[in-house]
Amino acid sequence: MRPVPRAVPPDEIEAIFAEGGPLATLLPGYQPRRAQIDMALAVAAALGTTRGRLVVEAGTGTGKSLAYLIPALLSDGRVVVATGTRALQDQLVDKDAPVAVEAVRRLRAGRPRNDGDDDDDDDDDEPRGKTVLRMKGRNNYLCLLRFERLDRQRTLGFDDTLVQIGRFASSTKTGDRAELTGLPDHLPLWSEIDADRDHCLGSACPSYEPCFLVALRRAAEQADVLVVNHHLLCADQRLRLDNASDAEGFARVLPDFDALIVDEAHTLPDVATDHFGLSCGTDALVRLGVDVRRAANACDGDSRAKLMNDADDLEATSKTAFDAVAAAGSGGTTVGVAAGGDTADALADARADRRLLRLTKDVEQATEALVDALAVLAHDLQKSRSKLVGKDGDVALQKATLDGLSGRTERARAELAFLCGSAASDDRFVCFVDKGPRGVTLTAAPIDVSSPLSGTIFAGDAPVVLTSATLAIGDDVGPFLRQVGLAPDEDPDGDAGAAGGSDRGAERGDDRGDDHDPTGARGHDDVARAIFPSPFDHARRAALYCPTDMPEPDAADWTRRFDDELLFLLSTSKGGALCLFTSHRAMDDAVSRLRAELDARGLRTRKQGERPKHALLDELRGDLRTVLFATASFWEGVDVRGAALRLVVIDRLPFRVPSDPLVRARAEHARKQGKDPFADIAVPEAALVLKQGAGRLLRTVDDAGVVAVLDGRLRKKRYGRVFLDALPPMTRVGSRATLAQFWTRFVQPALGLS
Ligand code: SF4
Repeated sequence: MRPVPRAVPPDEIEAIFAEGGPLATLLPGYQPRRAQIDMALAVAAALGTTRGRLVVEAGTGTGKSLAYLIPALLSDGRVVVATGTRALQDQLVDKDAPVAVEAVRRLRAGRPRNDGDDDDDDDDDEPRGKTVLRMKGRNNYLCLLRFERLDRQRTLGFDDTLVQIGRFASSTKTGDRAELTGLPDHLPLWSEIDADRDHCLGSACPSYEPCFLVALRRAAEQADVLVVNHHLLCADQRLRLDNASDAEGFARVLPDFDALIVDEAHTLPDVATDHFGLSCGTDALVRLGVDVRRAANACDGDSRAKLMNDADDLEATSKTAFDAVAAAGSGGTTVGVAAGGDTADALADARADRRLLRLTKDVEQATEALVDALAVLAHDLQKSRSKLVGKDGDVALQKATLDGLSGRTERARAELAFLCGSAASDDRFVCFVDKGPRGVTLTAAPIDVSSPLSGTIFAGDAPVVLTSATLAIGDDVGPFLRQVGLAPDEDPDGDAGAAGGSDRGAERGDDRGDDHDPTGARGHDDVARAIFPSPFDHARRAALYCPTDMPEPDAADWTRRFDDELLFLLSTSKGGALCLFTSHRAMDDAVSRLRAELDARGLRTRKQGERPKHALLDELRGDLRTVLFATASFWEGVDVRGAALRLVVIDRLPFRVPSDPLVRARAEHARKQGKDPFADIAVPEAALVLKQGAGRLLRTVDDAGVVAVLDGRLRKKRYGRVFLDALPPMTRVGSRATLAQFWTRFVQPALGLS
């Protein structure tokens, strides 16, 4: 076990953030912010405590990145920082970390430098600079072996692309796909040459020494702070849970670390749901068949024929099984499906038709046949190791390839057997079928992620800090704590997890008596909680507009009123708008109805999916007349500052789709625990999503504008109060006349608009 990181003395924190201190010498216009310093002190205290647990909501503008990076660097331990989005990961590494590292170096050197003194000549007496390393999922990195193999068999059409990738391979130091800017974002060829785990030969690989992934892991062993995303963190924790490490530890994702900081922690439960379940789909099995056929060509005649035959069987039984699985799905809905890993930002809005799995006789027979075909294939792959033809070096490589394929096949067999066997009758899981852009996928997802999180991220002594701008409803972070397993499900006072009513400011929860199980059998950590509200002047800079007579979305005239209100709002803002929808269909319909009218008014209508996300956001930034219609991933991680974004419109309160099998299973689970699934789960979850969406508006202290929620339930339903409590204290407006006044009096002058 690695030691707890050093307890950072509070005076070091105070000194680094002080007026005239190291940060002030590095950041032009720097002013100490009490909330930022208090957050840094709270983080430092948590990092210096065995099993330290801290949950912090820090509103936009608190400066939370530096408030955790500085204590992380000062702690002298190896700290993993996990983010929910690529945008924040890049911001931390490219913008915040260099400042934090230099500030720590200056503090320790004991002599703050003057502005502009960027001389980086370390003299020997100065402390060595800390290192911060970005780590992405392995699919982001080029696999030299796969690339060289493909490059040898160039086919027409891929030639130009391969030449570009070849130049990239010989010039890049990291092999990171993000540096390959000359090629389109979605490059189908990339999946043929990435450092995918299924194709990696580990230390048997002839390109092991120059391998980018090997270099990354070596660098990670030396780094002070590793910046990863939630997917990589959960993949790492899942592997540790399964104890699935190969002999050289090459399957492991992260080196051991001393402390963990999870930013954008509100998305952790969803990512954990993806990673602590199991899935098997046609896409993976088709790729397995292709790879088996390729490997078969290296075997002698009999073995080759057998493997080719096995691949045919795999294809046929897989088709029959997944046709049966798809046909047997019941109920269901269309949902957004995340692609996982670092591609999530790009593909988070893919749609899938999701249905609950019904284990019919057809499904059982067809999946059993597929499980058998996989078992035969795994066996034949192992037997073929002795039937390889070729020179010595080639044979060693081919053996490693067959071993890899055999392991993959065995994993697929075991997963499918579990999915159609134990998981289907295990009430901890819900099994469903997705028919999406990547074919049919069968998934067993955990209904409650608090158990796997308690058994992994929160299991060890390493301190953990969870932070986000959206964790609390009012002053209460209880629902989030219960979701991640850091608070008891039941509270005898009916006020579970409320930390004595308020979590505002930094304090250690004083309700330890309620949380603590005297038997020690099911104890909960003592979780410190803090809320630092945004320092922005929401009341004068932002209005929350919901017309007093706005109908509810199921009313007959809601669409007409929505269009009417949106046109009014856009005639007021004249663009600079982000219209957030709760479904793709609603977005598509609204664009179809309104695009011609908006174009006629000189506005530039853009819709998610028409171009990559970053390109659409650049258009929003670049032209004040832009109106961007979007859904799903645009509700968070969008950071458009100034007048470019002065209006955020939300079509409906963002409840999850109730017919989604996962949502239904969680509701049923809550009912069994005596909870009200709507009041206890659906409403708090949706309120936090609304808070995220509304949070797109004010990104800096100088921003101003309007958030419009065009859903009458916000005013008319009793639960509307929960949503209102979750939002920052914007001026509430119910009529067009008042909104127009607010716009003229506050928004226009603040943004310098005429
Ligand atoms: S070690 Fe794995 S990822 Fe690296 S080059 Fe070899 S096969 Fe590719």
